[in-house]
Amino acid sequence: MYDVVIVGAGPAGISAGLYAKRSGLNVLVLYHGQSNLEKASKIDNYYGFTNGIDGETLYKTGIAQAKNLGIDVIEEEVTGITKLDTHFVIEANNEYSANAVILSTGNKKLRPEINGIAEFEGKGISYCAICDGFFYRGKNVTVIGNSKFALNEAKVLKNIASKVTILTNGETLQETSEFEVIKEKIRAIHGNGTVDSVEFSDGSVISTSGIFIALGEAGSADFAKRLGIILNGDNIAVDKNMQTNIPGVFACGDATGGLLQVSKAVYEGTLAGLSAINYIKNK
Ligand SMILES: Cc1cc2nc3c(=O)[nH]c(=O)nc-3n(C[C@H](O)[C@H](O)[C@H](O)COP(=O)(O)OP(=O)(O)OC[C@H]3O[C@@H](n4cnc5c(N)ncnc54)[C@H](O)[C@@H]3O)c2cc1C
Repeated sequence: MYDVVIVGAGPAGISAGLYAKRSGLNVLVLYHGQSNLEKASKIDNYYGFTNGIDGETLYKTGIAQAKNLGIDVIEEEVTGITKLDTHFVIEANNEYSANAVILSTGNKKLRPEINGIAEFEGKGISYCAICDGFFYRGKNVTVIGNSKFALNEAKVLKNIASKVTILTNGETLQETSEFEVIKEKIRAIHGNGTVDSVEFSDGSVISTSGIFIALGEAGSADFAKRLGIILNGDNIAVDKNMQTNIPGVFACGDATGGLLQVSKAVYEGTLAGLSAINYIKNK
């Protein structure tokens, strides 16, 4: 059992980890997929680098610093977090238990470039199976994605919908699945007020009442919705100490919205780490 599991190894997650570890807590950082920091070719506005620094180097240096301090930093995709009475269970390749969780998975809402997606969001297009699956009881639904995250969403829907089909939109499904899979590229989503069908590039059409988008890894907002955490749009709502509305769950960095900058991620990571320390000490 870890004191704190941090999801995300960008400047927010690593900063939280440094403070938590240095206060004596047992800390695990899980990360998977690209950080926004890695995409930045040059950071010129962060303190302390005479000639700036490229994002990838800064990212890797942060991870090395955390490991050097004795923090467990493991590359595994987190696919779900469950709150039990006494602690949290974090689902990745392995399952981890923790007394507190810090969400620092950055800011992303991956929306595929498909005609009709924007038009039908909230009208048959959803980004969260556990939140909206209920509306599709006994209906045919589809999941767009090709990752473990997409399969997890399909599994949630299996118990609710009459049929679940995975649409990989031209990609290869990363794992074998019990679901029907259509690999053809998607040309458009159609409907009349709400979604009713998907058209593929070969001209074929299937009917569907609901489409769940599950691209890449689950992001902070996906975990947050499942845990019942309040969001501001796609961002996690936190108080001034980075505490969410669920005791023991903190969020920091791009995941909380606002200024999307390294300095803000470091500041919020610091606060989240300190808040997690207080929470564990009082528990
Ligand atoms: C092109 C570009 C240029 C930029 N330039 C600047 C600049 O000049 N100056 C500046 O201050 N800021 C800049 N930024 C912004 C800066 O990169 C971000 O504000 C900062 O990286 C946010 O840190 P973070 O820790 O919140 O998230 P990120 O750095 O995005 O880290 C997110 C972490 O979460 C992990 N993760 C995500 N999902 C999962 C999952 N399901 N399971 C496990 N791990 C997961 C990722 O692997 C990663 O480790 C730029 C961003 C971009 C995209």
